[in-house]
Amino acid sequence: MTRQDRNSVTPGYQFASDNTAGICPEALAALLEANEGSAASYGDDQFTARVADRLREIFECSGEVFFVFNGTAANSLAISTCCQPYHSVICADVAHLETDECGGPEFFSGGAKVLVAESQNGKLTPATVERLITVRSDIHYPKPHVVSITQPTELGTLYSVDEIADLSGLARRYGLRLHMDGARFANAIAALGKSPSEVTWKAGVDILCLGGAKIGLPLGEAILFFDKSLATDFEYRCKQAGQLASKMRFLAAPWLGVLTDSAWIRHAAHANAMAQRLANGLQEIRGVTLLQRAEVNAVFATLPDACHTRLADRGWHYYTFIGRGGARFMCSWATTEAEVDALLADIQSAM
Ligand SMILES: *Cc1c(COP(=O)(O)O)cnc(C)c1O
Repeated sequence: MTRQDRNSVTPGYQFASDNTAGICPEALAALLEANEGSAASYGDDQFTARVADRLREIFECSGEVFFVFNGTAANSLAISTCCQPYHSVICADVAHLETDECGGPEFFSGGAKVLVAESQNGKLTPATVERLITVRSDIHYPKPHVVSITQPTELGTLYSVDEIADLSGLARRYGLRLHMDGARFANAIAALGKSPSEVTWKAGVDILCLGGAKIGLPLGEAILFFDKSLATDFEYRCKQAGQLASKMRFLAAPWLGVLTDSAWIRHAAHANAMAQRLANGLQEIRGVTLLQRAEVNAVFATLPDACHTRLADRGWHYYTFIGRGGARFMCSWATTEAEVDALLADIQSAM
């Protein structure tokens, strides 16, 4: 990368999140293609049917598929269909479900309580989950009914297939369901080298919230029910929650673009590689400490306060409140090597 290229980068929101990127070309092309003529509304169109079929093919399952506008709705409605109001949901202390959904899961389930477990590098462990399941068994405490894991986690770490199977085995032993928040599921698949089915239902996952916005769609997430019994009347939950798109074809069609020729995994692999490039570069800068291994497309690092100020002055945006502090740099399908190198150069000179 030449100095010229680095200098042509305008610092901005590139690393703030993977939802600051635009629409990837495949999704945009599919969106435009779906704009020909008229189509049935409320999900009765051929695009919606085709994406659901394609997802069933990719996940090697016969489950039910729904599309909603965002991840908070996906998680909240998925939890609500698993829970009675007197139930509880066990998730990690850093889980989006707990920290970033404004109580949506509690609201849409009509009262189910989120029980927070201390996580290790963003992950639940069987020991902490079992303790929360068994700490009380009396009628005065909300009954644990769901374990929720995020894959990859909010800290950019991954559950191995064995770790998921251990948690689902534990959940099953106590009669609990396993929900997976897969806002960045594509990044996990790209990194693990396992098939979508191996990372989900074959390892015991009952419901997957599959992220679209952060992997290059204009908006929208899919919900996959591997256990069809949980999907009963789910369309009513979506409608009541304001999540049934009347022009559903535009929520669904972009998926066709990214699900063709594995574009979603290719883009995710690129985002992961950009994070790796950034992590490698940061490791070379004195005064920067990486907080955990960058397993997917997030890099967490601590920088001196003065460095943050100078980076902000330069125009860089990134988050410092996610997980346990430090700067979070997020890469996306659109992140370029020149952007990574420009950020690295600015961090180096801000030290
Ligand atoms: C971004 C994200 C979501 C979805 O958030 P919305 O803003 O509601 O779309 C869900 N889970 C995780 C882990 C996320 O990072």
